[in-house]
Amino acid sequence: MKALRLRPGKERSLLRRHPWVFESAIAKGSGDAGETVRIESHEGQFLAWASTSPASKIRARAWSFQETQRIDAAFFQERVQRAVAARGLFDLQSDGVRLVHGEADGLPGLIVDRYGDTLVAQFLSAGVERWKAVLADALLAATGLAKLYERSDASGREREGLKPVTGWLRGEGDTAQVIREHDWRLSLDIATGHKTGFYLDQRDSRQRFAEMAKHRRFRRVLNCFCYTGGFTVAALAGLKASGAIEGAELTSIDSSLPALERARANLALNGFEGANAQFLDADVNATLRRFIEEGCSFDAIVLDPPKFAPTVAHAERAARAYKDINRLALKLLEPGGVLLTFSCSGGIGADLFHKIVASAGIDAGVDGYISERLGAAPDHPMTIEFPEGEYLKGLVVVRKPL
Ligand code: SAH
Repeated sequence: MKALRLRPGKERSLLRRHPWVFESAIAKGSGDAGETVRIESHEGQFLAWASTSPASKIRARAWSFQETQRIDAAFFQERVQRAVAARGLFDLQSDGVRLVHGEADGLPGLIVDRYGDTLVAQFLSAGVERWKAVLADALLAATGLAKLYERSDASGREREGLKPVTGWLRGEGDTAQVIREHDWRLSLDIATGHKTGFYLDQRDSRQRFAEMAKHRRFRRVLNCFCYTGGFTVAALAGLKASGAIEGAELTSIDSSLPALERARANLALNGFEGANAQFLDADVNATLRRFIEEGCSFDAIVLDPPKFAPTVAHAERAARAYKDINRLALKLLEPGGVLLTFSCSGGIGADLFHKIVASAGIDAGVDGYISERLGAAPDHPMTIEFPEGEYLKGLVVVRKPL
């Protein structure tokens, strides 16, 4: 068995059960892509079993911190089974569920979502790439399903020196799916949609938005970066529950035409085709500026932009971009209105995001209450050992009434 020997002082994070070993922490040793190696302290003590990734700055990712653990097919079967079983611990109001969330489930680099009877997996590290066949079979065994589609086309693959791969890995079927989420249904396509097809992580924030729409009876709703219209459908579901659809105007913006077409279809799928809803194929920043010039205002705004800062290195530029759109959105918010603002950048922590929104408020001349903090749905868990797992942060800002 090959070993990677760490530099003195570099064993601390592994002792805290953080699963990553950076290139800069290694004194000597190497392994092939995805090979299991022994990670040792500078004195040769066992720290972890890990898979190596020679192309990546994250040179190794730990499978286990137990010296007696064998890293074999049975190990992966058990990890997959545990991840799938853990979803039963959460109250997930959907048949679209994240079953495996990488590091949080002890399977660094593996993402698996279930949409109805179909699984979609992303193999994003050399380690899970090497064990792909075993993992695919384990996923079918743990779920009792027969169809597994691979969407290994995320940018993280490149950093691991892996080429993009997509297509059916087990079984075959339709790539079009319809899931039920809370009180609504949403269609998606696992072959062409973003990520594995859909943003399951925003499920419970969409539900909070529906509840707010019901309680507050929103009249003018703006959904920025709407993708396939999830927050718009949620708002309409809430408005319907309080008999307030009539008189409500909903505007949804995205720069992807296929996403907007699906958003329209998703309204129809829920019986909302008659709602006063418009869909703009446009850049959010430019559109918000235009709305300000035109003197528009809204009593509910959602800002759910794409990842501006994939890593901490991009944080500064990203911070300016977040501040800019939040400033514009706050200017468009009526007194008493509510803004749901998000950042899914791992490189922007919760504190920094709060500060960005605070300084956007100051620049906009708008004061507000932060009435809630939002995060990813519980099937996208963070763990105690892996704080980097927190990526999606949201704030609910209620503009102070005049
Ligand atoms: N809120 C959505 C997910 C948003 S993902 C949901 O609940 O499903 C981010 C979206 O922003 C993507 O659909 C992408 O097409 C869109 N996007 C990225 N840059 C944009 C821009 N400059 N202007 C408008 N939309 C943009």
